[in-house]
Amino acid sequence: MRLRKKPWISQALEDYKGKELLEDGLEAYKGKWRALLGDKPLYLEIGCGKGQFISQMAQLHPENAYLGIETQRDVCYYAVKKLRDQEIDNARILRADAAHLLDWFEKGEVEGLYLNFSDPWPKARHAKRRLTYRSFLALYKTILKPAGHLRFKTDNDALFEFSLEEFKEFGLPLLTVSRDLHHTEILNEAQTEYEQRFSALGKNINFCEVVF
Ligand code: SAM
Repeated sequence: MRLRKKPWISQALEDYKGKELLEDGLEAYKGKWRALLGDKPLYLEIGCGKGQFISQMAQLHPENAYLGIETQRDVCYYAVKKLRDQEIDNARILRADAAHLLDWFEKGEVEGLYLNFSDPWPKARHAKRRLTYRSFLALYKTILKPAGHLRFKTDNDALFEFSLEEFKEFGLPLLTVSRDLHHTEILNEAQTEYEQRFSALGKNINFCEVVF
């Protein structure tokens, strides 16, 4: 997700820091997310973008806690604003790079993971940056509880096929696979900004769910 630089966002984010937006000292929360968010199962969305999915899921499931992880600070603004405007108290946005997940989460601390419309990094030499690359799967395996699930949606057919191969190589059983999610009965509780944009253009949406 690329946004034109908006200088006012940095100032506006000051009001969200340490509240809806967490970005400094994330290591201090390791093993303690339940203390911050209530004693609730913890779900992560990695690459949450402008936060539509996570804000909807948090509202649909007040019994759970949600963290959206997003590298781009300007993009985080739109996500934290949704949490504030909609008075959502069971979710936070982490401005951080998922490559460092092990610094912020204890082994088995996370109930489930969502990857929605992850950047495809189409060049072969960038494959290691894809969030379904095996080194990321190893991080997910550590922080997920035993038999925790990863749910993955993407419009990008090449990334989807690559990811299915990575899951197989990693030995992860596939619970569900669809190359046209919106024309199935599979539960799809919340749509992301990218999902709405691509499906409005008639693009099929790929989905799979794997168990760690
Ligand atoms: N999930 C949103 C959606 O479906 O509308 C956003 C999709 S956008 C294509 C992918 C997002 O993932 C971008 O905002 C990008 O900054 C973020 N991202 C990419 N790599 C990341 C990483 N290693 N850690 C956290 N966020 C990442």
